[in-house]
Amino acid sequence: MQTCRVRGKNLLQKKNIRMTKQRKVILEELRKQHTHPSADEVYRMVRHRLPRISLGTVYRNLEVLVQMGEIQKLELSGSLKRFDWDTNKHYHIRCVHCDRVDDAPIAPLNQLENELYGATVFEIIGHNLEFKGLCPECSENATPDHAG
Ligand SMILES: [Zn+2]
Ligand SMILES: [Zn+2]
Repeated sequence: MQTCRVRGKNLLQKKNIRMTKQRKVILEELRKQHTHPSADEVYRMVRHRLPRISLGTVYRNLEVLVQMGEIQKLELSGSLKRFDWDTNKHYHIRCVHCDRVDDAPIAPLNQLENELYGATVFEIIGHNLEFKGLCPECSENATPDHAG
């Protein structure tokens, strides 16, 4: 009962990318979250609906969904790549202690790019901005004195 489409040859031509059942489930589960999960976390999220899926397949499907423009891959500091169902331009806040990532509730600073226009020989195509701090839990656990 497994629909196993052409394995091996995997030509990622934009027009030929299809929304498979696996990708649909991944997208649906991702849209329930505001946590910006890593591939590993997405894997754990979808396993109850796709018990036979492998981490590698989840990873590949996430990359395909990025190419399709359905989700975006976040370029944040820290070790893990993270995925975001919200493809609109927005900023993130990262907890430096536990790596939790939330959306930063401010509008994109487009005027920054305008200010740079003409002031550099570069043609500006975008910018990244990442806030960092401590999430409520880590903030609470952080004791001012590091006794012991
Ligand atoms: Zn934290
Ligand atoms: Zn986000």
